[in-house]
Amino acid sequence: MTAIQTRLKRNQMRRDKQPQSHIYDSYRSRGRSAGASRCPDCGAIYDDGRWTWRISAGQMHQLQCPACKRIHEQAPAGEITFDGDYLLNRADEVLALLHHQADGEKQEHPLERIMDIQQQPEHIVVQTTGPHLVRRLGAAMLHAHQGELEISYRDNEGLLRAHWVRSSAR
Ligand SMILES: [Zn+2]
Repeated sequence: MTAIQTRLKRNQMRRDKQPQSHIYDSYRSRGRSAGASRCPDCGAIYDDGRWTWRISAGQMHQLQCPACKRIHEQAPAGEITFDGDYLLNRADEVLALLHHQADGEKQEHPLERIMDIQQQPEHIVVQTTGPHLVRRLGAAMLHAHQGELEISYRDNEGLLRAHWVRSSAR
């Protein structure tokens, strides 16, 4: 079996386990190389099939991690939008919450990060490098600020989208 066939087979196995995120997986799937590698952009370490933040001694290959690759290519894996006049006087509070949650997620999962935040008075859009962060940000907003959350996966886009909304009137 050639290397390419081997990689395809591994991708297929991963898809079977995680049918919802094959685009995401296409950024994840890498052939294993001997020894550890370090992402030159963020310093994440790839070792034994996993990306971590641990410090590793010794000489390492350079390998751009999937999160930095997504940031470089502006290819988000998730996008969550926050809407409503409820946000008008709470933007700072909400952004602090989102950053706090993102920091926690990134510590646990190096590939889950905020890529970009666009902010308008009643409208905040957050793009992420991973789908789990979208769910975490949505859940945190529901917990802290109630409102309504809708999550939709559109397979043709390979992007997990979520929409949170709350108006002040309620
Ligand atoms: Zn990186």
